[in-house]
Amino acid sequence: MSAAFDLRSDTVTKPTPAMRKAMASAEVGDDVFGEDATVNRLEAMAAERVGKEAGLFVPSGTMANLIAVMTHTHPGEEVLLGSESHIFHYEAGGAARVANTMVHPLRNDEDGSIDPGTIAANVRRGDIHAARTTLLCIENTQNRCGGRALDAAKTGAMADAAHSQEIAVHLDGARLFNAAVALNVDAMQLAAQCDSVTFCLSKGLGAPVGSVLCGAREFIDEGRRARKMLGGGMRQAGILAAAGVYALEHHIERLGDDHASAREIAEGLRKHAAFAVAAPQTNIVLVDIVTGTLDGWLRALRHAGVLATPFGSRRFRLVTHLGINSDDVNGVIARIDRAVEAAKV
Ligand SMILES: *Cc1c(COP(=O)(O)O)cnc(C)c1O
Repeated sequence: MSAAFDLRSDTVTKPTPAMRKAMASAEVGDDVFGEDATVNRLEAMAAERVGKEAGLFVPSGTMANLIAVMTHTHPGEEVLLGSESHIFHYEAGGAARVANTMVHPLRNDEDGSIDPGTIAANVRRGDIHAARTTLLCIENTQNRCGGRALDAAKTGAMADAAHSQEIAVHLDGARLFNAAVALNVDAMQLAAQCDSVTFCLSKGLGAPVGSVLCGAREFIDEGRRARKMLGGGMRQAGILAAAGVYALEHHIERLGDDHASAREIAEGLRKHAAFAVAAPQTNIVLVDIVTGTLDGWLRALRHAGVLATPFGSRRFRLVTHLGINSDDVNGVIARIDRAVEAAKV
């Protein structure tokens, strides 16, 4: 097999030499004691970027979401979320098992949003038969809807529907900066209507590990306790946080390159009748299979040197990232062409 272009996820990015240098020289201390200067700097920077009072550095986006659910709710309460949300599909049921909440999925529209009227109609507070609804979780960009970016108006309408009934709103912004770059707005505007927000440092931003959860000071203080409970209190974590600081300073603007690459790859795929491809808005390309089998295509692509992720029974996903430059895009397209050729024989 020839050298592969790994487009399974933007989590496969590796720290650049400059990022590794920043990590190697990071000032560190015991973060559980609040004494790691680099973690403190990252948390403050992150909070400022998304327009919240405080931040909390956590090992993963999954833990950030779990801490948000634990902190916004009490056991036995109900969480509204998208039917295509990461929390519902990919977080091992932590909202149920660890936070003791009942998740109630509401249909995600194709654009990744949830109809505000549906949110309002599904909030349950007074009836003693029902679990009490206390939280709405939304996602931007929306991964399973193809990396769709929700603008501030859509986010605001969903958040208003929740807030008008005194429900808190958490934004899973794993790829929030992709949304901000795609919409050409400040990330802060996309989080403004939400009580808490998390974003991943370990995806397109290129850091090896970590997410930051941001919100009001009191919420983050309480979240810090939950992080300790979950085993997420790390010690000289400044080594990792330094990569996050570097990423926030150097890797946000370039996300636009990933979006351009994704559009080019989608064009390349669209030449082939075997695939149906919607135009990507950010760095995620969803490919529906028209002919052949999913396993067959994944194998053919792998043999040609392109790694993809299965994403439903007749769909695969390609994600562009820091490790794929504009020269690589032509290579990716050539290899896809080769896979299609090989499949015909
Ligand atoms: C990746 C991702 C997360 C968090 O994933 P981790 O692998 O736990 O960091 C959360 N939400 C969305 C939408 C994601 O894509």
